[in-house]
Amino acid sequence: MGNGKTVLITGATRGIGKEIAISMAKVGYDVALNYRTKTDDVKNLQTEIEKFQVKCALVQGDVANFEEVEKMVKDTVEQLGKIDVLVNNAGITKDGLLMRMAKDDFEKVIDINLVGTFNVTRNVIPFMIKQKSGRVINISSVVGVTGNAGQTNYSASKAGIIGFTKSLAREVASRNILVNAVAPGFIATDMTSVLSDSVKENINTQIPLKRMGTAQDVANLVKFLASEEAAYITGQVINVDGGMVM
Ligand code: NDP
Repeated sequence: MGNGKTVLITGATRGIGKEIAISMAKVGYDVALNYRTKTDDVKNLQTEIEKFQVKCALVQGDVANFEEVEKMVKDTVEQLGKIDVLVNNAGITKDGLLMRMAKDDFEKVIDINLVGTFNVTRNVIPFMIKQKSGRVINISSVVGVTGNAGQTNYSASKAGIIGFTKSLAREVASRNILVNAVAPGFIATDMTSVLSDSVKENINTQIPLKRMGTAQDVANLVKFLASEEAAYITGQVINVDGGMVM
């Protein structure tokens, strides 16, 4: 049964975005799944989500492309009527030491992770202001706070998202729009599956809870931040990292 609310999730084809979509649908949100190219994956997810008797819109668009995003947001509002919650989740890595990093690899990561977050939020906020309510949840990363060798591009994008989150939270608080960032630690998805077993073991020794997180661990926090129970939380960065960063 629907709960009367809607959520738009970017990069919803797999990993954390997919899990957020399923978790939100389970508690009754109508869901808009943003995807770039993976039409089959997103159609399968749509079938899975419709089992929860909520609406599920498929909205294509590369978050790095402002015009595509503009259309994507319009499509969402046309199909679902409104956007109550926006989850900026789409993201990529292109790791390498700065000494060897091509300018293009720096710019690509900033363009998708940080400019992408701007593009989508910039197009959604006017609707939220009009309806005098909304939640924006940005997926940052603990490395946006701590830094990480080999990830100058990615860490800069995720630190940028934190500054963006806090500034926007101040701008729109009076409009009843709450803006927060979630900072996952190491979460088992395609993004981290490329790491070698020895790197993963080494990471686990640095995590007090001694395991990588699951996409569900992150989705649980997003679901909370979207809920009425989080009505007095804005401008925050909340880690989901098994205690890795304290
Ligand atoms: P995945 O690589 O598993 O999934 C990334 C998703 O983003 C895919 O759906 C991908 O779509 C989509 N995407 C990438 N670029 C674009 C784009 N230009 N436009 C639209 N969609 C795009 O990553 P995770 O699920 O692990 O990560 C999700 C978020 O969480 C990211 O922002 C990531 O930085 C962050 N995060 C992840 C951590 C982890 O340990 N896994 C830790 C901290 C933060 P497609 O299928 O088309 O490629």
